[in-house]
Amino acid sequence: MPDNYQIADAFSMLSKLMDMHGEDPFKAKTYAAAAFNIEKLPVQLAEVEPAKISTYKGIGSSSAKKIIEILETGELKALIDLVARTPAGVIEMLSIKGIGPKKISTIWKEMEIESIGELLYACQENRLLLFKGFGEKTQANVMSSIEFFLQNKDIHLYADVEAYAMAVDKTMKDKFPDARFELTGEFRRQMEIIHQLEWVTTASLDAIEALLTANNFQVQEKETSFVTVKGAENVSLKFHYTTVHAFGSSLFQTSAAEGFLTAWGTVEEAATEELLFEQKGIAVIHSCLREEFSTDPVPALIQYHTIKGIIHSHSNWSDGSNTIEQMAIHAQEEGYEYLVISDHSKSAGYANGLSVERIEAQHQYIDELNSKLKGFRIFKSIEADILGDGSLDYDDDSLSTFDLVIASVHSNLKMTEEKAMMRVMNAIENPYTTILGHMTGRLLLSRAGFPLDHKKIIDACVANSVVIELNAHPRRLDIDWRWISYALSKGALLSINPDAHELSGFKDIRYGVLAAQKGRLTAAQNLSSFSLHEFEDYLMELRREKGI
Ligand SMILES: [Zn+2]
Ligand SMILES: [Zn+2]
Repeated sequence: MPDNYQIADAFSMLSKLMDMHGEDPFKAKTYAAAAFNIEKLPVQLAEVEPAKISTYKGIGSSSAKKIIEILETGELKALIDLVARTPAGVIEMLSIKGIGPKKISTIWKEMEIESIGELLYACQENRLLLFKGFGEKTQANVMSSIEFFLQNKDIHLYADVEAYAMAVDKTMKDKFPDARFELTGEFRRQMEIIHQLEWVTTASLDAIEALLTANNFQVQEKETSFVTVKGAENVSLKFHYTTVHAFGSSLFQTSAAEGFLTAWGTVEEAATEELLFEQKGIAVIHSCLREEFSTDPVPALIQYHTIKGIIHSHSNWSDGSNTIEQMAIHAQEEGYEYLVISDHSKSAGYANGLSVERIEAQHQYIDELNSKLKGFRIFKSIEADILGDGSLDYDDDSLSTFDLVIASVHSNLKMTEEKAMMRVMNAIENPYTTILGHMTGRLLLSRAGFPLDHKKIIDACVANSVVIELNAHPRRLDIDWRWISYALSKGALLSINPDAHELSGFKDIRYGVLAAQKGRLTAAQNLSSFSLHEFEDYLMELRREKGI
């Protein structure tokens, strides 16, 4: 039998969903009041004679009917109907503090956001501010509530646990100066998503347990070879015990995918990983490449410091936080040679996209800035929306005024593969498209990308000399690194781009590099590693080739 709390919860949810769906506000209020009063009742409704239920304060006859329905059937049909009409991610939003049903309704229906992860991303892109009733304060509140909410989930983006991993690593090494600790597992493999942080250690597991439980960690599992714990950060930590003599083999076995280990065969005890590779007679395979075993020679993987330009960034002309000048100065200070400003295009109303008139004004402003900057250049670009039919957002005359064009899908993301292929292929075949932005539109842990035939898209990019973006935002990392090897085998050029909406966004490039390394990308195959002169030459050559 449902108890009063469960019945009250059902009423409260019913009232919120009615508000969200724009149903009779008076009735919705009645149910909210009923929920409040049911919780306070001194008796269990299940024990009350049905005819007496409507006599309690704050419970009218329509609420009483629904209570009886719950008690008799265990469910509430009106609620089930509303739930069925609401995406699960939108219902989940109701558990975020700071936004009520009405705002969630706007977020869902007007912003077309259907999950908490998407909502966080929209906050980071300042997207909420463009809607009525959403000020900077609301956006900041929503953002911090979501962050809190997501922390309480079990799977994490690499970028979200990185600082924590480093802090734990440092603490353990400080507390056990005579023992060895080495990060391993998914983190060492540079996976974009982390289920658990793992270490290989020579410290005793009892000592580790004692230290961590004294600091309010809970032990989840303990065996002779490992202990797993969880602290307030809600990230699972696992410590594998090993000896100095077996340190290398333990590290090796915990930082490779299963398929890789199976193909490898027996792992002998070894003090270092290098010894294992030596015994096998092959060069050391970097831990980020231990997905599928292969003895193919590994090229020199791309490194963060090889990135020379910020390609794909948004200024305060659309949904970014900083002026173009601030971004250029910061980029130059950070050692970059150029900055590609690619604000949103005109149909991106949600992001204050640029009209043709504003593009002209922006170009004039960029020309002025460029005349002041020495040894640095700002390129004029746009992140052009790929429209429903695959055309870009401006006519050829406007498109020809940009130094380069990034084409991305931002709207109507729910589509069949056929439709998605039509849109993206058309965009790739447009001679003005220089770069295909975030190929699938995915947001890790919150939104699957739209379905695409990756091989066909990659082949078309190569055939049309379109650069494939590796969007470095840690929630995107799109193109997925699993497709990079195929792209490179076809001769594709990639570009690790931060899609920065503020100065600190430049740093996301590093996450793109970590993912790119897993795909065996080299600096020579990455557009943003081109020097300013190489980049200028590349764009000039491209224009000549495409006859634009
Ligand atoms: Zn975009
Ligand atoms: Zn963008």
